[in-house]
Amino acid sequence: MNEINRAVKGTADVLPDQSDRWQFIERQMFETARLFGFKEIRVPVFEHTEVFNRSVGDTTDVVQKEMYTFDDKGGRSLTLRPELTAGVIRSVIENGLYAGTLPLKCCYLGGCYRYEKPQAGRLREFHQFGVECVGAAAPAADAEVISLAHAVLEAIGLKNVSLEINSIGCPTCRANYHKALKDYFAARKEELCETCLSRLERNPMRILDCKSPVCKEIAAGAPVMLDYLCEDCQAHFDGVQQHLNAAGIHYTVNPTIVRGLDYYTRTVFEFVAGGIGAQSTVCGGGRYDGLIAQMGGPATPSLGFAMGLERLLLVLEHQQTVLPTPAPCDLYIAAMGQAAALKASSLCRALRKEGFACQTDLCAKGLKAQMRFANKIGASFTLVLGDDEIAADTAKLKRMADGHEFDCRLSELTKALYQAKQESAIDSLTDSIIKQEGSKQ
Ligand code: ATP
Ligand code: MG
Repeated sequence: MNEINRAVKGTADVLPDQSDRWQFIERQMFETARLFGFKEIRVPVFEHTEVFNRSVGDTTDVVQKEMYTFDDKGGRSLTLRPELTAGVIRSVIENGLYAGTLPLKCCYLGGCYRYEKPQAGRLREFHQFGVECVGAAAPAADAEVISLAHAVLEAIGLKNVSLEINSIGCPTCRANYHKALKDYFAARKEELCETCLSRLERNPMRILDCKSPVCKEIAAGAPVMLDYLCEDCQAHFDGVQQHLNAAGIHYTVNPTIVRGLDYYTRTVFEFVAGGIGAQSTVCGGGRYDGLIAQMGGPATPSLGFAMGLERLLLVLEHQQTVLPTPAPCDLYIAAMGQAAALKASSLCRALRKEGFACQTDLCAKGLKAQMRFANKIGASFTLVLGDDEIAADTAKLKRMADGHEFDCRLSELTKALYQAKQESAIDSLTDSIIKQEGSKQ
């Protein structure tokens, strides 16, 4: 196929047939966040490259290998965001939000761009929903943010997910740990990949997140940060676990989680879905107490998480979860002749004002073709409109599920459709109760 007819590698369209699923999980995400007091923030798709170099970290895979960086016509180096936290924190500093009421609780949803090897659950353009809680140091905040992620996953109907947590300490206790890691990796220097070799001096913890099988195998035996936590970090981590226990949220401590971004301190966590193979982490997050200061703001302890929408939808599909979809069309009006076509349009307009989803013919089709169309789009009711119906102010509302007809007046169509929908809802409820009773016997 010609290049202009093909989406760029690693990008995907969401087609009209698939967008209900996206809209459902997006609604659940924002609604759950609202219950926790988080409000949406929207930030640009691109930022000065430095925003990501400084925050995500220039020894990470994201910055070293995955960013879409380009010079604009004014000679500025810009980068398509590989994640949203950096941009949100840039905005928090620029707008002085750290000086307002704290904690500042915000959430976001948007596209992210990473030059990665495309595969199931891994794209070059993907979408993240995430939250940031700015200005909260207490362990209760960590548990609250984790509990929000947990509630979102529950609200979208995900099953079989496990929560893994770890603490990667603070710069003070991490200094000792870095030394231990350097000694460990230096002993097997010859086997490390080239990227990790360069990380050995500058940031040995990054080697723990390397995807190369050899480095992974070496990293498996490396010392773990949990053994090096200072008293304060240990107390904080204990506090987080107490809060999670009190909230009844199950977790396991996984000392090997370090996360792929440099800004994390203390608590880090991942939600992992069972049974979908390699791309199983659906949500990742943690605390980043040093980030705001590192980016030029005042020291402000903060934390957040991000979840990938494509990956969530993949898991939901894999688990065969049926997501609720809105009725595609309450009423289709099939019109015969010019006068009926005009009348059908005005009836549709009036019904839509009352919140009914209505459609009529836009292609000058014959009656049979119009009815076929109504069937295809899944219309709940149809109404055939001709000169006779208009003259007599009467018509029949046909329920497509069983062909049952309701007599109605065109001048009172809104009321009639409302009643017919109500009656049908009661009928189908009665049917399902009878079926349930039947299956019990
Ligand atoms: P991974 O280890 O899978 O590469 P990551 O550590 O790079 O993940 P984060 O930067 O923490 O991921 O992003 C948070 C979430 O965003 C991930 O858990 C995942 O659900 C999603 N995500 C990250 N990269 C991609 C991608 N290339 N395509 C689709 N989803 C992604
Ligand atoms: Mg990654």
